[in-house]
Amino acid sequence: MKMKIVKTIDEVRAQVKEWRKQGLTVGLVPTMGYLHEGHASLIEASHRDNDRTVVSDFVNPIQFGPTEDLESYPRDLERDAKVVEEHGGDLIFNPEPSEMYHQGFTSFVDMTVLTQELCGLSRPVHFRGVCTVVSKLFNIVKPDRAYFGKKDAQQLAVIRHMVDDLNMDIEIIGCPIVREADGLAKSSRNTYLNADERKAALVLSQAIFKGMDMVRSGEKDCAVILDAMKAHINAEPLAKIDYVKMVDCATMQQITALDRPALCAMAVYIGKTRLIDNFFTEDV
Ligand code: AMP
Repeated sequence: MKMKIVKTIDEVRAQVKEWRKQGLTVGLVPTMGYLHEGHASLIEASHRDNDRTVVSDFVNPIQFGPTEDLESYPRDLERDAKVVEEHGGDLIFNPEPSEMYHQGFTSFVDMTVLTQELCGLSRPVHFRGVCTVVSKLFNIVKPDRAYFGKKDAQQLAVIRHMVDDLNMDIEIIGCPIVREADGLAKSSRNTYLNADERKAALVLSQAIFKGMDMVRSGEKDCAVILDAMKAHINAEPLAKIDYVKMVDCATMQQITALDRPALCAMAVYIGKTRLIDNFFTEDV
């Protein structure tokens, strides 16, 4: 079928209802647009597993803090449409903020504990915005499965936890991080980097690979691993660490020894641009 772009909740619902009548399964890929190969890998995974794939393309205002990059966040729907079509998506849902948040909107999905570590510390409203918009998208599309990148590892853990806590009947699929040839994790925010910053940004993935090597060679002391990673990043003058931490995969609480499945996650400013990267010890 020909890929369609719709702007309203009613149009999404009508299309999904039609598919359901035909007995088709539906996958959802939530995105903020400006799609790259990372997003494309999620669309492909959904296309493989489901009869139809909905891609939401929406820069969600309520997950940005007041001093963050909501206004400057890159947008290009025409380009996104090509990526979605090429990788097997069937429907793009690209609502205006007013379609998602009507006047008088006051209901939020708020999560404790998991959101109070890592990115939650420097982005206090972020996960409330993410959980709220993802819940709304789940209610609008009612997919069988939803696809999220491990690039946003805390987000993936938060969504899994929300789906479990709130008994949402949706399978959550986590997909591997897609990287540039030189290692930098693909991100819509990479477009903010100038040439010097783009070079400097390599310290994130280099530190990640260093950490993975140490885990592979049997190091169990988190401080030893994290110190080596931080030293590598701190040697780059354009880099400023927000955090580099080792946490329990399920709870996002910090650990000191690798005695359980863990997530090693970082956020680093390169100039004014905040970038994230991570690895799961289970994937090493
Ligand atoms: P965003 O548009 O940045 O909100 O991302 C939408 C989805 O794409 C999220 O589930 C991200 O984790 C995922 N994603 C973004 N970048 C990558 C990447 N480099 N590799 C894999 N998934 C990604």
